[in-house]
Parts: sequence; C-alpha cells; structure tokens
Amino acid sequence: MLCKSFAAYTQPFVTMMGPLAFYFHPNSNCNMTTVEATTKYIFVTGGVTSSLGKGIISASLAKLLQARGYTATIQKLDPYINIDPGTLNPYEHGECYVTEDGAETDLDLGHYERFLNVPTSQANNVTTGRIYLSVINKERRGDYLGETVQVIPHITDEIKHSIKLLGENNQFDFVITEIGGTVGDIESLPYVEAIRQLRWELGIRCVVIHLTLVPYLAAAKELKTKPTQHSVKTMQEYGVQPDILVCRTERPLNDGIRNKIAQFCNVSPAAVIESIDTDSIYKVPVLMREEKLDLQVLKKTRMSANCMPELHAWELFLDRLQNPLSTVKIALVGKYVELMDAYKSIIESLIHAGTSNVCKVDLKMIHSEQVNEGNVSKILAGTSGVIVAPGFGERGFEGKIAAIKYARTEKIPFLGICLGMQCATIEFARNVLGMKDAHSTEMVPSTPHPIIDIMEEQKKVNLKGGTMRLGAYECKLKNDTRAYNIYSKQFISERHRHRFEFNNKYLELFENKGMIASGINPGSNLVEIVELTDHPWFVGVQFHPEYKSTVASPHPLFVDFVKAVMDFDNHKQGL
Ligand code: GLN
Repeated sequence: MLCKSFAAYTQPFVTMMGPLAFYFHPNSNCNMTTVEATTKYIFVTGGVTSSLGKGIISASLAKLLQARGYTATIQKLDPYINIDPGTLNPYEHGECYVTEDGAETDLDLGHYERFLNVPTSQANNVTTGRIYLSVINKERRGDYLGETVQVIPHITDEIKHSIKLLGENNQFDFVITEIGGTVGDIESLPYVEAIRQLRWELGIRCVVIHLTLVPYLAAAKELKTKPTQHSVKTMQEYGVQPDILVCRTERPLNDGIRNKIAQFCNVSPAAVIESIDTDSIYKVPVLMREEKLDLQVLKKTRMSANCMPELHAWELFLDRLQNPLSTVKIALVGKYVELMDAYKSIIESLIHAGTSNVCKVDLKMIHSEQVNEGNVSKILAGTSGVIVAPGFGERGFEGKIAAIKYARTEKIPFLGICLGMQCATIEFARNVLGMKDAHSTEMVPSTPHPIIDIMEEQKKVNLKGGTMRLGAYECKLKNDTRAYNIYSKQFISERHRHRFEFNNKYLELFENKGMIASGINPGSNLVEIVELTDHPWFVGVQFHPEYKSTVASPHPLFVDFVKAVMDFDNHKQGL
C-alpha cells in the first residue's frame, strides 16, 4: 500500500525491486502492501464547450491523490502556436503565471500550485508552438535526416515525450495532463492522437477523463445528455474511449441521468461523475471526494485505495472561508479589471490571506483609466485597503498615481505590486520630492527624472518572448523594517517578471524623506521592496508575491496586508 505522509512527500521510503516498490508508512490505517511503482498517466480532456473547469478538476484530483499519500504533478498542454503565453494580451488569455524557473505559463499552473503547494516548472506547460519549435530544430540539426517530417509520428512523438518527461524515473505516482481547448478543435487533434497512442503503449497505466456539459433546459425542465453523447462520440472517432466522464451541471444528476450517460457512452455508472456549480473552487476537491473521482482513478490504474484522503487542513480552510468573522473592502486598481482572470493570482492570494485572518475580503475592482485626482476620494470611499496591480504601458498610469497618492496621504494600507511599486516611487518623487515630471522610461523615455529605468541587462534585448527578468531571485531584507517583521527572516526568494527597475541614483533622496528600500537583491543591488516609515502600512514590491500564495501556505505579505486593512477598518469604526 502506498501511503506517504505529507512530510515524507519529497523523500518517499522506497525500496526498488524490479518493477515493484515497497512503500512503508507509519500510519496504522495503512497496511503495508506492494504496488507497482511506475508512474500512472491521467489525461483530462474537455468537450462541448470551454470553461468547464478542467484545470480545477485536474487540481482537485491531484489534491485527493496527494491527500491519500501519493505524489502527483499536473501538466497543461496548450494547443496554440505561441511558444508561451508571455507575449499574449491578458484580454486574450488572462493572467500569465510565472514559475520558480522563470517560465511564463498558463494561469492553470497557478491553480495547480495553490491546490498542491508544490512548485511547477516549464515542463508543466507545453504549447503547440514549443512542440513544433523543438521538432523543427531537430530537423535542422539533421536528427531526422532522410525522413519526411510529419504530424504523425514526429509531432505526436514530441507530445508524448513532453508528457513522459514528467514521469521520468518514476518521480511521481501520477502525472495528470490537462489538454487545453475542446475536443473536435483542429488544434487539439495531435494531442488526442498522442493520447490514443499512449493508451496502447501504457495500458492500465493510462486513464482518460473527459469533461462535458450536461445543460439544464428550463423550458423542458430537464437535464440533457445529448451534448455529452456527441462529445464522447467525437473522442471515439479519434480512437479514444474515455474511462471517466466528469459532467459539469447546474443541477444534481439523478441515477436515471447517470445510467443513461453510462449506457450511451460506454462507461460504468460509477464512472459518471457529477461536477456541480459551486461558489468556491476550493470546494471542488471535497465534492470530487464525495463523487469518488479519485477512487475511480485508483481502481482503473490498479492502485491501492486503502488510505482515505486526509483533507483535514483543507476542510479547516473551507470552514474559515465560509464562516468569516468580519468583512473588509479592498480596492484593486488596474487596467484589466473587467476581466477577473487577468488578476487571478492576486484575487486568490487575497482569499487565502482573508481566510487566514478569518475575514472576508470584498474586492472592489477599480479601472485605473477612470481614476483621477478629482474623483479618487469618491471612488475609493469605503475601501480600507488599496492594491495597485502589475502591468505594462501607459494606459491607466495616471489613475494608479492618483490612487497611490490618496492611499499615502489618507494613511490607507497600500500594497503596490511590480508596476504598482514602480508607480508608488514615481508618486513619491512627484509629490514629496517635488520632481513634477518624474516618470518611468517605459512610459516617457525622455523624462528628466527617470525614477524607474530600464535594467542594464535589458538594454541590449530586442526579442520580446521570454526575455524579461523572470522567475525566482533572492532578496535581502533590512533589519527593523516592516518587510523584515512580515517575513521574519533576512533572506527571501520571490518570483519576478519585469524589464524596468528603481533607479538607485535617487535612493538617498527617497530614504531621507521616508521611503526606504527594505529589500534589496544582494547580487545586483536592485531595489526589491520599498516602504514608508511614517505610514501604518505602505509597501511596494518589485516581485510578484501572488505567484507563491497557496491554500496550505498563504503569502505573509498578503496576510499582513489584510490584517492591516482590518486594523484600519476597526480604527475607522472606533473599535
Ligand atoms: N512594466 C514594468 C516593467 O517591465 C512592470 C512589469 C510588471 O508589473 N509585471 O518593469
């Protein structure tokens, strides 16, 4: 029986014996037995429509497997031609998530990390562009000398290689691969074909989970199974019979519906899983446990299911999430606010931080283009905390400056992230240091006061894709600063995504007037954190703390920020 404790997660006690491994676990619930130690591959495809929640189902399944003591990782295969989403407008693809190793990736990787509390990397996100690039490079190198390079087998082999790479050396019990897009799209075809081939190669080490929609027709007062039938038929035409169907629905599926889907789609009724709409993504693992999705996967891969999923901490989190003792209003000022996905990780970080403070964060999205000095007090009235979002370019810049000035002068807790931090230093230069034309050379290259300037190593960069300062860098915190008190340690590591930096020529002037650099990159001297000494809570960070907040480990900056917002609120109410 495989049942590794969470602590033993990174160091399983495994004795290899041919293809079998013995796993020992101190938990008396779990009898010691043997299991096949090879990695199992779970594919998650989607049919009928997009936005059915493949990412959340994948993350929830991985969470349940992890909660049973298994190791799991999740991979997203995106069928677009961009090498990565780094060059995509957030309107196109939502947030660009950044991993420790500096990969610019799909936002679903953020969900994987938030659910599993395990870092992902470039290998967890592959696009069609990346697959083709690799194949074309091999062709130029002469790897296929004499052959005609084709979608099958060359592209499909490359896809299979990317999938199997994560399972190399059996470092994970399960590799869950989510295929982006919807089955039937031209772009998805090579991926479905790769799954078909892998089923032959891997046999019972492979499971295909297909997500579909079971719509409710109000006029007929009925749930309809036909879209699911058609979607499964499309899969079958490509030679893939799904093993498990996860059916997204707004109404519960009764036995009649489950049996009907099972009968028409060649699966057992137990493999028809209901995925009902819910108000929080964090409830999905619990719902999937009730539906026995994990059990179905274990059964089909002949893995032991002796250990029950241990979700105690998760349920505690849910309990706090659903029973907050207070509510605070926080404004998120940015230019993509009509699109919730653009700031996904910030929004989720605030949920984690709120829950950690047993407080509900009521987030007010503020469009920075609509803010100016004249209306800012009205727009921000009633909010007890202000976040200025990351971003690029001129649009909405002055609105961010106006919001920061208001937060600074009204002593409202403020957190500036990346561009938000850069704006905070520019606002300070303009309104405290008297440099009226202070700016960033990103927006105004000819500014007389380049408070924010292009990084030296970026000056020679011409290519746009993957060339920013990306991924994890170290930061040294100054003693006796807010930053130090929040992190309670001297050295931290945070993820980055930027080309511009604070201009150290101005640092002394800033520090003399009360804006200090409390975090610095020890190697390059790059300013990573600024804070105001005469403000209850005013912090700007050049990095992105939102990429590292998880359910199991809410980010300390967000936790402390929400606490400061609660204090501000209490003070306002005279409590
Ligand atoms: N545009 C700024 C830079 O490149 C900030 C980037 C960001 O907010 N992620 O430095």
